[in-house]
Amino acid sequence: MPLRFTNTLTRQLEEFRPLDPTGKTVKLYTCGPTVYNYAHIGNLRAYIFEDLLQRQLEASGYAVERVMNLTDVDDKTIRGSREAHVALGEFTAPFKKAFFEDLDTLRIRRAQSYPAATDAAQIARMIDMIAQLVARGHAYQAEDKSVYFRIASFPNYGRLAHLNLDELRPSGRVRSDDYEKENIGDFALWKAWDEADGAVGWDSPWGRGRPGWHIECSAMATGLLGEQIDIHCGGVDNIFPHHEAEIAQTEAITGKPFVRLWMHCAHLMVDGQKMSKSLGNFYTLRDILAKGFTGREVRYALLRVNYSLPLNFTLEGLATDARESLRRIDEWLARLNDHARTATASEPHPLAEQRRFEEALDDDLNISGALGELFKIIRESNAALDAGALAPAHARRLLAWWARINAVLALEPETVALPTEVQQLLEQRAAARAAKRWADGDALRDAIAALGWTVKDTKDGQKATRLAAAG
Ligand SMILES: [Zn+2]
Repeated sequence: MPLRFTNTLTRQLEEFRPLDPTGKTVKLYTCGPTVYNYAHIGNLRAYIFEDLLQRQLEASGYAVERVMNLTDVDDKTIRGSREAHVALGEFTAPFKKAFFEDLDTLRIRRAQSYPAATDAAQIARMIDMIAQLVARGHAYQAEDKSVYFRIASFPNYGRLAHLNLDELRPSGRVRSDDYEKENIGDFALWKAWDEADGAVGWDSPWGRGRPGWHIECSAMATGLLGEQIDIHCGGVDNIFPHHEAEIAQTEAITGKPFVRLWMHCAHLMVDGQKMSKSLGNFYTLRDILAKGFTGREVRYALLRVNYSLPLNFTLEGLATDARESLRRIDEWLARLNDHARTATASEPHPLAEQRRFEEALDDDLNISGALGELFKIIRESNAALDAGALAPAHARRLLAWWARINAVLALEPETVALPTEVQQLLEQRAAARAAKRWADGDALRDAIAALGWTVKDTKDGQKATRLAAAG
């Protein structure tokens, strides 16, 4: 089945066809973090959705060329550096580092390139694009010395957000990077330096200043991927004004459709409410790891709901649903591995019901449907194992299938090396049991549990697995 995705621009489910005439490469641009703070789980949900998209494209045979920007100069980063009394670069560096750590913790694959807005080459490209917009009458320098995009010069402005400009009263100009559609207005491309900017600024044909947020993404996307790209993603918050502005700036210069497919990830709620610092339900990944959860559990919790639907995140759900689902996967894999060892060959695959997993993902990344198919297969094969009715070759085939679908899910069990202490206790316990010193064996099992490991006695000897961290 061909890949199909819902396009925000048309609001239709569309069959995916890349721009590349050979049909092999997909150009993907995803809006990255503004590095004034740690990413919160709403941001991370969007990054996990984009990771799923990239992995599904790759599993479908495409080579994905992906760029994700780092916004390291804007109103928020400048305010943060001023409040911390440090230079802008010094202020953003630890948040950039933390962003990459979060990606690794959540098993998110890296893009090819993470350009920073303050890179000299990127600033030069932004200035060049703004100059072209001014030359063509799409932009102007106002009395405040800032340069604004003239939205009246671009009839398609509002198309992505499905706004009718005639029905909205324009409010003149908007200097802030974020504004509501109720005060629709000309947005800033270049912000003239003011005292609050301190040492932050670059020289330009319009005087000293800094770029607006929107032009950063237009410059980096076209500079690194070309004038036209296949897919552009972000959160629903990005649709207006950010992505609307990106289209206007880019297409006013190139005269070509900038993006073929726009995909946006729905909101994340916490305990059924909008996440906010004042409600005390605002979490970064660090906050959740500090409560004893693993990156794999957080990945599962943020992955399992279709991207187009709001996701309600709760710590209780993380402690029960996510943990329980992963435990079922782990136990199933352990049973299959045990059983497959006696197989001499694998049955050919795939099975029809296994293809249903892939077909669900092909259908607008229906991950909840795909996981439903996985757990159905887990239930059925566990029942067959219980009944002694599963052939070892079939177990091996299921493991081969798991390896293939896990390239998309990235939910494999954590591989944790056995600590020396635990290894020594296991050896003592094996000796105690061999000598039929059962009480000693039990005491040693408790000592191992105290170190966070659980022991099972199998026909192949003791097996230690790490206990799930306490919630
Ligand atoms: Zn962007």
